[in-house]
Amino acid sequence: MQTLSLTGANGLSEICIETGLLNHAGKAMLDVFSPSRVHIVTDSTVAPLYLEKLTQQFDLPVSSTVIPAGEEHKRLSTVEGIYHDLLAAGMTRKDLIVALGGGVVGDITGFAAATFLRSVSLCQIPTTLLAQVDSSVGGKTGVDLAEGKNLVGAFYQPRLVLIDPDVLATLPDATFADGMAEVVKYGYIANPAILEMVSQPDYQAHIGDVIYECVKIKRDVVAIDEHDTGLRMILNFGHTIGHAAEKLGNYTELTHGQAVAIGMVAAMRLAALRGDADLSAPLIVLLQQLGLPTELTHDREAI
Ligand code: NAD
Ligand code: ZN
Repeated sequence: MQTLSLTGANGLSEICIETGLLNHAGKAMLDVFSPSRVHIVTDSTVAPLYLEKLTQQFDLPVSSTVIPAGEEHKRLSTVEGIYHDLLAAGMTRKDLIVALGGGVVGDITGFAAATFLRSVSLCQIPTTLLAQVDSSVGGKTGVDLAEGKNLVGAFYQPRLVLIDPDVLATLPDATFADGMAEVVKYGYIANPAILEMVSQPDYQAHIGDVIYECVKIKRDVVAIDEHDTGLRMILNFGHTIGHAAEKLGNYTELTHGQAVAIGMVAAMRLAALRGDADLSAPLIVLLQQLGLPTELTHDREAI
């Protein structure tokens, strides 16, 4: 098992990465927490795959909320439903909330844990590559409003993050590729060795090592700038133009990772226009190998 730790405003956060970790995640949690009951939040795609496997590992009352999969459910009414389920299950401040799923489940559940009874312990078990390398680490939680994404939320570090690369086996290829855009981002902002690793044809066999390198970067950045007032912005490489492209496509034409891929290429070209060396060619080759788009289809003025 590889472990990393981070001390945030609400205490220590431990991140564990291990192939097969989901098979003994219950024990890993009980080594850290002493709850009387556990409530797991997951979504309708992940529940049939992994919820039973996790539930049966506890010798305690376990309840769950299964939310419909999809970003459109990342909203306050979903959080309110979770609060009602937590009360119905008899959850108290000493108990444990677990987020089992991708970034949507993680963001919603993190916000519910930050706010229910003014905060309850949280364990994140991210099940998409994006959630493993990005959203489960760093303590940003929240929901969308009709006016825009992630407009309501809280900084709340999970006490424990359990990352099992094995669960990525059930991800659709396009969802896996989405996470790879963030992996490439880490390579460019902080560690070119990551780019070497994912350029190998068999890189997926070593994805646990790739995840570890990415999480280490995120951990280091968040340790310096937890509340996103300076350095943490480096994690937005490719996201400025990417977010614009995502929005212009009404969040349906492009996935987040696809938009970030296009945004990184565009940012590099802009840098070249401003007099830096043009480094976009190898980035384009790598993104194409990973099944990601590289060219803006929207009008520059609109972007
Ligand atoms: P997601 O949670 O919607 O997951 C994508 C799809 O994969 C969903 O349909 C989900 O049900 C399915 N899925 C999840 N795990 C699976 C598995 N193991 N096998 C098969 N299917 C599986 O999306 P995402 O890309 O994981 O996360 C995107 C969200 O993360 C956005 O809401 C974004 O705002 C947020 N985010 C948050 C942070 C942060 O710091 N908190 C950072 C980046 C992104
Ligand atoms: Zn992103």
